[in-house]
Amino acid sequence: MRVLLVEDDTMIGEAIRDTLKDESYAVDWIQNGLMVASALRAQPYDLVLLDLGLPGKDGQEVLASIRSRRDAIPVLIITARDALSARLRGLDGGADDYVLKPFDMEELLARMRAVLRRKGGCGAPTLGNGIVTLDPVTQEASVNCGPAMPLTGREFALLQALLIRPGAILSRSALEDRIYGWGEEVESNAIDFLIHVLRRKLGNDIIKNVRGVGWRVSKSG
Ligand code: CA
Repeated sequence: MRVLLVEDDTMIGEAIRDTLKDESYAVDWIQNGLMVASALRAQPYDLVLLDLGLPGKDGQEVLASIRSRRDAIPVLIITARDALSARLRGLDGGADDYVLKPFDMEELLARMRAVLRRKGGCGAPTLGNGIVTLDPVTQEASVNCGPAMPLTGREFALLQALLIRPGAILSRSALEDRIYGWGEEVESNAIDFLIHVLRRKLGNDIIKNVRGVGWRVSKSG
């Protein structure tokens, strides 16, 4: 999962970025509303975390321009504006949810998961394809309802990227985009190594290679 964090407050931004990284999200952080459009053009994101009071371009305007492009990317507003009218404007403006500062990181994470679940069209709290089940809270995987297996953050992020759309083939660079944020160095064989480890943990057939194109998990068991 790759998240675009738009927050001008350095302390809050750092805290959110570090928390999300710990939870295996790839995070790109910008501090100016004017930079959102080009960031969204340059990279596919799964979610935008959007502060409302921003230099350059106000969060409400940023949201309006995202939606005016018919971009349905999930947007979660993070704001200190606790006035009801601002909140309602955010939701009416096409935000998927909001959290009020100061908030607990656990609450932010839970709301992000809820928004992503709704957008994924799958209300279940776990991801799966009938063979592998992945729990986004514990980051554990299990095969055919077997014992829960802990995954490292990057193993989790890779398997999650594949399980969001079982059957879809993801290329090496598409997988790298889901796992690494800006400025994070990607070793050339990182994806192969993660897949190797996941196969060793979960079984060889779990992740299928499509020669010259990429990798996928089966559509259903
Ligand atoms: Ca702000």
